[in-house]
Amino acid sequence: MPELPDVEVFRRYLDSTALGHEIKDVQIRSEGLIKDVTPQKLKKSLSDRTLEESRRHGKYCFVRLDSKDWLVMHFGMTGFFHYFKSGEQEPDHSGVLLHLENGHTLAYVSQRKLGRIGLVQDMREYIRERSLGPDALEIDKDSFIKILSRSGSMIKSALMRQENIAGIGNVYSDEILFQAGIHPKTQVKNLDQKTLSSLHQTTRRVLETAINKSADPSRLPSEFIIPRRGAENNCPKCSGKLQKIKVSGRTGWYCPGCQKEQ
Ligand SMILES: [Zn+2]
Repeated sequence: MPELPDVEVFRRYLDSTALGHEIKDVQIRSEGLIKDVTPQKLKKSLSDRTLEESRRHGKYCFVRLDSKDWLVMHFGMTGFFHYFKSGEQEPDHSGVLLHLENGHTLAYVSQRKLGRIGLVQDMREYIRERSLGPDALEIDKDSFIKILSRSGSMIKSALMRQENIAGIGNVYSDEILFQAGIHPKTQVKNLDQKTLSSLHQTTRRVLETAINKSADPSRLPSEFIIPRRGAENNCPKCSGKLQKIKVSGRTGWYCPGCQKEQ
């Protein structure tokens, strides 16, 4: 599932392709992706509008139109953008196609159709209505410690909970906890301020590193466990066997040698 680094990479992709261009025509192939607005209204609101500015909050990407409305997109389990020239092959599973005045098309592609696309007037209000916490890359150290300290759960669950901090999911919570040497099931109340403060730094470092490597697992540093998830590989630090662990219904990976239970 796309998490903060993936969505930031999508946002930058949009900035380097479709941003600044005018939408001439909209094709909606999967009406089920359109939420909180009718497909007809979405189509009308996007036509002849220019994509002026993009933002990201957690796993959501927002694009401001010259009408001041915001197009909001969540990528579900499998979504991404693809930009192509007219005449080129349209990607499979295109959910929505924005045909631009320059002859190119921006496709929102979603194989499993679990994403969502909507239109909002106020981005901040949308974030509030969904009770999303501060963005994981923007949150300051004190808020990070305060929010996690009051969560009363296991650290992996607390990091994945979008109402606490927005953007981290199953995959990046594994990486952050591995880099921090913290067992995923550690109760947050057992982590002292110093550990939480260093966890804040680790969170930033992991997310920024992933973005710099285009969130591509094959390009991540060799000391990351993301490329080793999903198979019984060895820990890049101690060479012990990585193990599966179930937390909040999600299957994560960790190293029992480097992440001791507390
Ligand atoms: Zn290890």
